[in-house]
Amino acid sequence: MDLMAYWRWDNYVRDLDEGAGFNFNSNQSRLHSAIGLGERLWLISGKREKMGVKYVLVACLQIAAKTYNSPDYKYGRYRVWADIRHSAYYSADGPDLGNLFLNLEFQPKKPVQRKEQIGQSLQTMRNLSEQDVTLLVAWAKGLKLESRAYQIADEVMLEKSYENGENFVKETVAEYHSGVSSQRKLLLQHSYPRNRALVGQLHKLYNGRCQLCGFDPELLYGVRASSSHHIIYLSRGGNDAIENLLLVCPNHHEIIHATKAVFDFKSLCYIFPNTRTEPLVLNHHLNALQ
Ligand SMILES: [Zn+2]
Ligand SMILES: [Zn+2]
Repeated sequence: MDLMAYWRWDNYVRDLDEGAGFNFNSNQSRLHSAIGLGERLWLISGKREKMGVKYVLVACLQIAAKTYNSPDYKYGRYRVWADIRHSAYYSADGPDLGNLFLNLEFQPKKPVQRKEQIGQSLQTMRNLSEQDVTLLVAWAKGLKLESRAYQIADEVMLEKSYENGENFVKETVAEYHSGVSSQRKLLLQHSYPRNRALVGQLHKLYNGRCQLCGFDPELLYGVRASSSHHIIYLSRGGNDAIENLLLVCPNHHEIIHATKAVFDFKSLCYIFPNTRTEPLVLNHHLNALQ
């Protein structure tokens, strides 16, 4: 059943500033239990304006995967990942949808009676009725997309630029990554030395071997062919930190990106869209969520 959640305004803005993640995090287990794969998570937020709080629909995410976050992740234990092709971020400059939200009936019962309570009532995620979904789908058709969510560099391109040198990183970020805040942009543009140091650390830690299959390109071919991969994409708000990096062989790296596989910190497994899961066979630096 489709679900509606309230996205705190500051958290939503942070997501856009760091690179629209097309995912959502929470400490509520309902984020995993109350919505199925292929169903939609409707995210609303309240924007403070002169006349009071304006309620807006900021995103509709079609759920592609569910995972647990790393133990040190600040914004909740549970994560859902969207299928980007069937999801959208909407501009918060649109009309106040407070009255629309008041008219939703929800399942099993209506939690919102007054406009001032919308934010508070939806702190707990609520399931929507079929009629609610029909109404929301019709509304969403008329909404403008949030362009910043789409001005994001391709992760593979960004990764390649790190392999090619500092100037390539700067250029890629400047040219293709305009949706993020200028602060985030600067951070990425100056992250090259730090990133290379981290990648060096990973190679040393695993002797160049793939953490998912143990393949050792150096032993067999005499070349350093494994590469680093950001679990939460750097282009989509992920940290350039060892806790967000894995060392993988070229095959695994290609397949992770091609399938948009996601990493689960509870099982320390990659989850592929066809439900195949692969655990880390080598791990000296990631802690599982308990
Ligand atoms: Zn591998
Ligand atoms: Zn990668």
